Amino acid sequence: MGQEVGWGAVRHPVPLQCYEVYSGHLVEYNSHIFLLGSVAMSGHYVVLSRKYRPKDLDDLIGQEVTAQFLRTSLDENKIPHAFLFHGIRGIGKTTTARILARCLNCMGDGNQSRAASSPCGTCKSCVALDNDNHMDIMEFDAASRTGVEDIREIIESTQYVPLLGRFKIFIIDEVHMLSKSAFNALLKTLEEPPPHVKFIFATTEMNKVPETVLSRCMTFQLNPIHETKLSAYMRDIAAREDISIEDEAADIIATEAGGSVRDALSILDQVIMLSHPSKVITTETVIKTIGGARQCDIDSILDLILAGKPDGAVQLAERIIASGCAPFTLFSGLQTALYKMIAACVKKSNSNLSNLLYLWQILLKQTENMKVADHPEHVLIAAVVILAHTASFPKIEDLMIKDTPPEGSDNLIQKILTRIPGADVSEVM
Ligand SMILES: [Zn+2]
Repeated sequence: MGQEVGWGAVRHPVPLQCYEVYSGHLVEYNSHIFLLGSVAMSGHYVVLSRKYRPKDLDDLIGQEVTAQFLRTSLDENKIPHAFLFHGIRGIGKTTTARILARCLNCMGDGNQSRAASSPCGTCKSCVALDNDNHMDIMEFDAASRTGVEDIREIIESTQYVPLLGRFKIFIIDEVHMLSKSAFNALLKTLEEPPPHVKFIFATTEMNKVPETVLSRCMTFQLNPIHETKLSAYMRDIAAREDISIEDEAADIIATEAGGSVRDALSILDQVIMLSHPSKVITTETVIKTIGGARQCDIDSILDLILAGKPDGAVQLAERIIASGCAPFTLFSGLQTALYKMIAACVKKSNSNLSNLLYLWQILLKQTENMKVADHPEHVLIAAVVILAHTASFPKIEDLMIKDTPPEGSDNLIQKILTRIPGADVSEVM
C-alpha cells in the first residue's frame, strides 16, 4: 500500500488518521511528534539567527573539533547511531543536529548511496529540510514532551523506513527534561536501533542525562564562541545586511552575548532596528540598547582603582550606570578587565601579580552579593571603594624582607610589622 503525497512517494503504510496534506505538505497532527519546523511563509520577517543559520559543517562557528569529527565520520561512513551535543544556550547544538541530519539524508544526484559531509543543497532531501518540511527528520521538544507516552510514539515510528531520505532521524532537544520513565523506555531502542534510525540529542545540562543514556551516545561538547570570533561574526553579518557597525559596538555585543551566537544575533537584530534608517550601528546605540559599557571606561575605572583613587573610580562608575549601563554588566566588565590584567602579569612574571590576585578575590566575593542584592549598584560602588582602598595598601612583595632583618628578630610577623608605618612590634614580642 502506498500513496502519492506532494513531492515524495510514501513507501510504507502510513496511518492516515495521523497524517494530513496541508498546503501541499505532509503534516502530522494528533501526535506529539511533529515534523521539523513549520511551513515557511514568504514575506515574513525572519530573525538573523534563523536567516543565517549554518547549513553545512564548514559554516559552523567555533566548533572546529566537532565539525572535524563529524566530517571524518561521514566521509569514512563510520556513523554512530546516537549523538549528543551539549553546551550552553545558543552555541549551535540544534543547528549542528540539523546539519548532521542534512548530511545523513542528502541524496545528491539520486545515485548517492552514502551520507555526505558536504550536502548538495539541491536534492529533494536537502530542499525539504531547507523548507522545514522533511518527513524523515523529526524534532522533539523534550522540554514540553517529557512523558513515557511521547517516547513510545517515537519508538513505534522507528519501525517505518524513511520516506524521502536515507535515515529516519529523531532530534530530541533539551533531552535532559525527559522523565525517568521516558529515559528507561528509550534505552532498549537507543542501544540497538534499526539501521535506518539515528538519534540526535541536544542538552544544556548533560549532568541531568542518565549515565545509561550517555553511554549509548557519542557525546560532543560545543564550546562558547570566543569574543573575538563573535565580534568578527557580528561585523560579517552586518555587512551582509548592508549595514556598517563600529568595531567597539561589535565588541560590546560579543561580550554581552557571553559566547552565545544566538544571543549576539538577537542583540544585533535589536540594534539594527534602533539604527534605522541610518544603516550605521554606533557604539552609543548598542550601549543604550543592552545597557553595556565602553571598554575604555571600564579600563579607566580599573586604572583609578589601581591608582588608589576611590573618588574618581566611584564618580566614573556612577556616571556609566547613569548613562544606562546595567550594574552587573559593569561589574562583569571589571572582572574581565582584571582577569586580563592578571593573565598579562602571569606571562610577564610581573611583581604586581599577588596584589591583583587579592583584588580578584575581593571581586569574586562580591559576585554573589551582586546577584541577591535589591540594589546591585550599591554593591558595585562599595566593591569599587573596597578595591581602590585595598589597592593603595603596600604591595605584599614590598613587605617581604629582602635585606638584613633587625637584630634579634627572626619572627616573620615581626619582620613584616617593622615595615608597616605605625605598627607596634612590641605587641607581638
Ligand atoms: Zn542533498
